[in-house]
Amino acid sequence: MAPEQVLKPDHAAVARHPIFTDEHEAMRLEIRRFVETELAPHAEEWEETTFPDSVFRRMGELGFLGLSYPEEHGGQGGDYAYNLVLAEELARSNCGGLVMGVAVHTDMANPPIRMLGTEDQKRRYLEPAMRGEKIACLGITEPDAGSDVAGIKTTAVRDPAHPDEFVVNGSKVFITNGHRADYIVLVTKTDPEAGYGGFSLFIVDMDSPGIVREKRLEKLGMHASDTALLSFTDVRVPAENLLGEEGKGFYHIMWELQGERLIGAVGAVASAQLLIDRTLEYAKERTAFGRPIGKFQGIRWKFAEMATKLEAARQLNYETARRVMAGDYPVREISMAKLFASRIACEIADECVQIHGGNGYMKEYGIERAWRDLRLNRIGAGTDETLLEYIGRSYGI
Ligand SMILES: Cc1cc2nc3c(=O)[nH]c(=O)nc-3n(C[C@H](O)[C@H](O)[C@H](O)COP(=O)(O)OP(=O)(O)OC[C@H]3O[C@@H](n4cnc5c(N)ncnc54)[C@H](O)[C@@H]3O)c2cc1C
Repeated sequence: MAPEQVLKPDHAAVARHPIFTDEHEAMRLEIRRFVETELAPHAEEWEETTFPDSVFRRMGELGFLGLSYPEEHGGQGGDYAYNLVLAEELARSNCGGLVMGVAVHTDMANPPIRMLGTEDQKRRYLEPAMRGEKIACLGITEPDAGSDVAGIKTTAVRDPAHPDEFVVNGSKVFITNGHRADYIVLVTKTDPEAGYGGFSLFIVDMDSPGIVREKRLEKLGMHASDTALLSFTDVRVPAENLLGEEGKGFYHIMWELQGERLIGAVGAVASAQLLIDRTLEYAKERTAFGRPIGKFQGIRWKFAEMATKLEAARQLNYETARRVMAGDYPVREISMAKLFASRIACEIADECVQIHGGNGYMKEYGIERAWRDLRLNRIGAGTDETLLEYIGRSYGI
């Protein structure tokens, strides 16, 4: 073979990461078809109205809510890489709020039930959740405690007169799906004197007397999602709804947060990739000073920077996911992946607005919406600073 043939770069070649098989790619196409035909066309409308609950039922019908959940509880029995495929393809809906609402259900609130739930809990909550008949939300954050999870004040106290019941009092804020949810996976303090050993998780039916869905919170982005302030006053929760071990709730929720962070990192990279792709098209078409703006070195270098950083973020995500799938618990690398992907995605969204010029600032192009939606990634599921602190401490300093 001639040297020029051997050395010719093949930029069109697509390297598939080894965590993905032909089966994953077949599922990817199926999900993509659904997202492009049934979700993306409604993105504008759902920004105004929030997305309808019927999305959960439809996704349940198609088997997309339980891709990696066990078959005996209504899931598809696949591996974790299917969750990545779902997160990547949902990004094509151009509807960040919808992606978040679905991810809270598939990758945040329900994994603790799969991992820790009793058979009865799985039958009552997980199975209808897989079908999209019940919608889940997750309650960690409170008005006075977000990053500092151990600072929560919501209590669950066993009623001495009815030892098979706990009484919950407190409030939760910024709860995604909080208005539509049928149940909440709730972080409480069962023993305020016991430090990290004093937390417990409960599955609480959202129609229980004493729960008030106070306010539909208005926000910068993610408008298609609903975000609630919830109050709990003398809410009686049967002891059989204790999730996992009493007193182990802090460790249980720290485990949950790892999945939430990794899926957030994967979703951020997928959204940023779509932004780059759309902006590249724009840079090829938009002309200034007699040539497409993409032909200016200053613009070309922006793409080179964005693509390089995004590829690094993607590889860190995939490698970390590979380790999770191999049975490791790489908390430091998950923190790094979430931190890096969120920052790079925000940086890319900002550059894409810039490359679009005035059009980037206009609603019509959808770039400003992605810029607003992606900003949440540096705050939700652990702020940049919380993750930096965690990563730094992991080195023993
Ligand atoms: C749209 C949206 C949806 C959400 N959905 C949910 C949900 O479904 N369920 C849920 O439970 N929560 C949810 N959250 C809450 C989210 O996880 C928290 O907002 C986040 O963890 C940060 O907590 P906080 O807002 O209380 O900020 P704070 O903890 O008050 O932090 C304020 C600032 O101080 C910094 N800071 C805090 N501690 C340190 C430190 N040790 N060192 C340096 N800096 C520090 C933070 O990084 C941040 O910059 C959601 C939030 C939003 C905005």
